[in-house]
Formats: sequence, C-alpha cells, structure tokens
Amino acid sequence: MSRDVLPQVPLLINGEFVQSRSSEWREVINPATQQRLARVPMATPDEVAAAVAAAQAAFKTWRKTPIGQRARIFLKYQQLIRDNLKSLAATLTAEQGKTLADAEGDVFRGLEVVEHAANIGSLQMGERAHNVAGGVDTYTLLQPLGVCAGITPFNFPAMIPLWMFPMAIASGNTFVLKPSEQDPLVTMRLVELALEAGVPPGVLNVVHGGEAVVNAICDHPDIKAISFVGSTRVGTHVYQRASLAGKRVQCMMGAKNHAIVLPDAHKEQTLNALAGAAFGAAGQRCMALSVAVLVGAARAWVPELVERAKRLAVGAGDSATTDVGPLISCAAKERVEALIARGVAEGARLELDGRLPPLHGALKDGNFVGPTIFSGVKPGMVIYEQEVFGPVLVIVEAETLDEAIALINANPNGNGTAIFTQSGAAARRFEEEIDVGQVGINVPIPVPVPLFSFTGSRASKLGDLGPYGKQVIMFYTQTKTITARWFDDDAVTSGVNTTITLK
Ligand code: NAD
Repeated sequence: MSRDVLPQVPLLINGEFVQSRSSEWREVINPATQQRLARVPMATPDEVAAAVAAAQAAFKTWRKTPIGQRARIFLKYQQLIRDNLKSLAATLTAEQGKTLADAEGDVFRGLEVVEHAANIGSLQMGERAHNVAGGVDTYTLLQPLGVCAGITPFNFPAMIPLWMFPMAIASGNTFVLKPSEQDPLVTMRLVELALEAGVPPGVLNVVHGGEAVVNAICDHPDIKAISFVGSTRVGTHVYQRASLAGKRVQCMMGAKNHAIVLPDAHKEQTLNALAGAAFGAAGQRCMALSVAVLVGAARAWVPELVERAKRLAVGAGDSATTDVGPLISCAAKERVEALIARGVAEGARLELDGRLPPLHGALKDGNFVGPTIFSGVKPGMVIYEQEVFGPVLVIVEAETLDEAIALINANPNGNGTAIFTQSGAAARRFEEEIDVGQVGINVPIPVPVPLFSFTGSRASKLGDLGPYGKQVIMFYTQTKTITARWFDDDAVTSGVNTTITLK
C-alpha cells in the first residue's frame, strides 16, 4: 500500500473523530510481515489542549449523571465488545503480533473490567455513622475528580485501555486516553464501541503521540489524575513530572518475574506452565515468567523444559498453529538478540537459541525470535538484571526454598511471582515471606480478576492504589466527609461551645 492511501488514525475530541493537523506521523506496522497498516499522528499541543478542554466541559454534566445511567452504558458496552470479540482480536493480532487466541484473551481480560464498571452502583458507595455525637451524623461522598488521563503500552492494546477509561468514566470522571503509538488500531475500535454504547461527547477523548504528548498530559493543570502503564524508565518520569504538577498518579511498570520450582511440584503441569508463561505473547507481558528458580532436585528438569520450548511453533499470530508470534518492532528484535549475545558473552549456558528461527515467505521479514533458554544464570548478569521483554527464560539454581525467596526479595522488581509445589506448608511460607505484589501458587500468571486490584509492588509500581477492583474507585474519586446536625424546633440551646468536642 502506498504511503498516500494508508488509513490515518483519527483523534477523538468532543465526540468527533477528527484528523490531526500534525506534521509528525509514524506508521503502524504488522510485526509479522512489516506490512504498513496505518499512519498515526503525534498530536499537536493545540489538539491535546482541545481534548482536555472537551473533557473539562463534559465533566460539568457527566459528574451529575445518575449512577444507574452510567452503569447502563457499560452494560451495553460489554455486550458490544462481546459481539465484536473476533474482529477486535483480528485487528489486535495484525498490529501487535500475538496469536488470535491470546488476542481474544487480551480483549476478554479488558471486558471483565467493563463488566466490573457496570457494577459501579454498588462500588461507589460512601460510609455513614449515625449519632457520632448527640444528633450528629457523619457520612462520606466518593466524588469524581474531573478530567483523568490514561497512557498505555503496546503489549496489551485492548486490556490496558479497558483497565482505565471504563472505571474512570463509570465513577463520574471524564477522560483523555493516549494509546501506544505502536498499535492504536484495536484501541480506537474499542473507543468507537464505547461511543456506540452511549458514552456522551467529551466524556472520552483520545490523543496520539509520544514523549511530547505525554509531557503535555503530565503538565496540564486541568488533568487531575493519570494512570500510566509501561516501562519503569518512562513510568518513573511520568510519576515525578505529574506529581510535581499536583496530580494523583499511579504507574504500573516493568518487571522481572521469578517462578520457584520445588522438587515436589507436579512435573508435567509445572513444565507446561513455565513454557506457556515464559514464551506466550513472545514474552511481551509484564507478568511473563522470565526467571525460573529451580530448587534442589528440580535442577535436573532443564532438558525436559528445553524439549517443551522447542516444540512451540514460531509464526504469524493469525495462523492457528502458531504458539509464539513476533516481537513488536525491528528495534525490539535487535535489542532481544543483543541481550542473548550478551548472556553468552557473560558465560551463561545457552540451552536453546531462538535467534533467526526458520521462516518463509512474507514472514522472513518479521520480527521473530523463538523460545530461548539460558541456564547457569547468576545475579549481576545483564540477562538477569534487565527486563528482556522477549521469549527468553533464564534459569537460576537454589539449594533451598529460603535461598530462592531471598533471591527474589533481593531483586528490585515486585510485579509477579509464582511457586510450583504440592506442599501447602511451602506455599504458605512463600506467600508470607515473598515481597512481591502478585503471587501465584501453581498459577504462572496471577493477574487478578477485577473483583480485586492489580497489585504490583516495589520497583514495578509507583503510587498507592492499583488499577480496577475496589482500589481504583479510591483512585478516581475524592472522599469528602460530611458531619451534619439538624435541629428540631424544640431543641434545647446549650450555649456557645468553645472546645473542639462535638456536643
Ligand atoms: P513504554 O514505557 O515505552 O511506553 C508506554 C507509554 O509511554 C506509551 O504510550 C508511549 O508512547 C509513552 N512513552 C514512550 N517513551 C516515552 C518518553 N520518553 N516520554 C514519555 N512518554 C513516553 O512501554 P512499552 O514498551 O509500550 O510497554 C512495555 C513495558 O510496559 C514493559 O516494561 C512492561 O513490563 C510494562 N508493562 C507493565 C505492566 C504492569 O501492569 N506493570 C503492564 C503492561 C506492560
């Protein structure tokens, strides 16, 4: 397709899909084939300002919209997403690369948050205490903040935008979304469906861009809260810059997720879980298992793990036989290949080398790296210290469970971890001692369902409250406490009270 006829990704401002006037654009590219799919603008400062102004104006009425009316929009929205699941997944796979089945999972995990948003009536409730002093009641209101913004990464272009705007809007805020510029197409389709479900003009707005647009969002005085998901480097910058501008900020960031394998673990289940969680989505998940800590006799399981990884098929995500799709970009592929070379140079044992998988036809140009396994990895090696964000599993050894726990607690990241064992006592010790926010027990990717919140910790998270679940209601609302007394006509006057005591 020639440059001129590539579709242009619009902005959404005040209920209208509009073409950007920017002079700066980048292309959205199918990572399996390098086919160019669309052009996405880096929005201008005026366009960002217009999106925020539209959200600010819409907030005046949206904040007072009855809670049932807000809930019903999300009831309709969840049905629209369900009806369009297959086509959403196809769009996602074309621009992001993951398999169609996994793309459906990406949409579905977001859909679960939309279902949760439809439940806003029972979530956004205050508290009330009767007679805190004679005839005095105290109660709280959870009021929306105003304009909120979301900045999302490339790796879950459906789920992560759906972590953000449904809960923010359902609780009475208006929203400006900045999707990943690498794969904005499925996000835009989800936004179209949100309008079809009844989200009014100005309540949801979208701007595209990179660093400059993100900085404008951090600085804008009318934006009250920012939810960011992405790398630790960018998230730390967003947290600092937006906090300095007085905003509420939550940043869910990078990871290095360890799985402990005890020798009493169910071997088949464990090896399957490790291979699926290390290499699924080509390792481009913030909850991917990228470090296996084999304890005691489990150290002998490496050859069987390698056999399983070898059997995974590398290819385009839209092929039913593919297990591992491409990396998002040529730059990501080069970076992962360079890290593998670094691991070899640092003396780790390359048990399985996924570089240059044999692919044919259009896929020869794709950003493919196959499953890769290193054993003999030690803290201090770059492949242990850095988030690879590719299909690379590093194996570390430990003598005991306590040694394995100490290793994980010494790592700065705290996103996810898992233990594989048949011992309840070992699992209980692990869950109590491990300093990581999301813990799996024989569950390799313990991303909580939206009844709970996503609870990454330490270097993987900045801000106190997580996305979705109950925590996000606190994030997207301001608690106001009312203390009230009403006098009967015959109430006795007790004179002037000059103390702080409520009488
Ligand atoms: P990224 O940090 O490069 O990009 C995230 C967002 O920030 C994008 O919208 C991007 O446009 C913007 N951005 C990029 N560079 C910027 C800059 N210099 N200044 C301001 N904004 C900038 O992340 P990514 O590569 O899209 O996503 C992968 C990362 O996200 C991984 O580190 C992964 O672990 C992390 N992630 C974390 C979670 C979580 O919940 N903890 C979930 C998914 C992904």
